[in-house]
Amino acid sequence: MALGEYTLELPCGLVEEDGSINRSAVITEMTGATQALIGRRDLIKDPELLVKAVLRSCVIKYAGRDMSDNIYGDMLLGDREFLLMEIRRKSMGDTIRTSFECGSCGTASDLEADLGAMDIYELVDPGTTGCPYVVESLPDGRSHRIWEAENSDLGLKIRSKYSTCRNIAQNKDTNSILMAHRVLGSNIVEWQEGFGETLNVIEGPFPSKFISDQPLRVVDWLMNVASLQGGGPDMTQEIACPACSSTIEVRVDMSDFFLPTPTSKGSRSASIRLSGQ
Ligand SMILES: [Zn+2]
Repeated sequence: MALGEYTLELPCGLVEEDGSINRSAVITEMTGATQALIGRRDLIKDPELLVKAVLRSCVIKYAGRDMSDNIYGDMLLGDREFLLMEIRRKSMGDTIRTSFECGSCGTASDLEADLGAMDIYELVDPGTTGCPYVVESLPDGRSHRIWEAENSDLGLKIRSKYSTCRNIAQNKDTNSILMAHRVLGSNIVEWQEGFGETLNVIEGPFPSKFISDQPLRVVDWLMNVASLQGGGPDMTQEIACPACSSTIEVRVDMSDFFLPTPTSKGSRSASIRLSGQ
């Protein structure tokens, strides 16, 4: 039977040399070979490898480019989540089941979510109202989208690149907080302390240890603003706990999409998001 191929419009895409954004992608559905691949023990134990295996098998073109390890590295996390969701939908349907634990009463329940109903946030083109970034050429010779954030209480301003699959691969760690720190640290291109004055401006490459040396209130702010920047699907679902009726925010975890058996890992609401709202 012929495999279905689907052309999609990406929520993020990549910047072209002329500064325009290329949002085109082509995916194919999963095959028996993909299913056998993701059943491998080493991939089940490593969600990041699993995600990469699925994307390398099923994405034919990303942002107009033929898929390769290098292009996979450039993929923004918002697009990664979007593509995984679309591959899952085309191959296995829109309904996904996940388990969660209520933070109020501790009762474990199952959730059935409709992937076709998720909100998808777009990183709009430069010049469009609400565009959260500027396009800049950096010392690596490439054009990047840079977002900015400032906090007047802390007297801080940062400028940062977006997180990519390469960031995650290079900073893989079983400690998800440490990984988030490293990814954050490797993407910040400029840091300024002291409003209205040019104090302590550090030009990239940003030292990742810098994050470890910051007060926790600064780290928390950085993690929070970074998590709000990217595009992609919003995988959080607000539901009422069947036992105590508390409203809970459950995050459907992408890395569980293609696992052969349903998993139970407790509440998704505590997971740390690197990008993609
Ligand atoms: Zn409850």
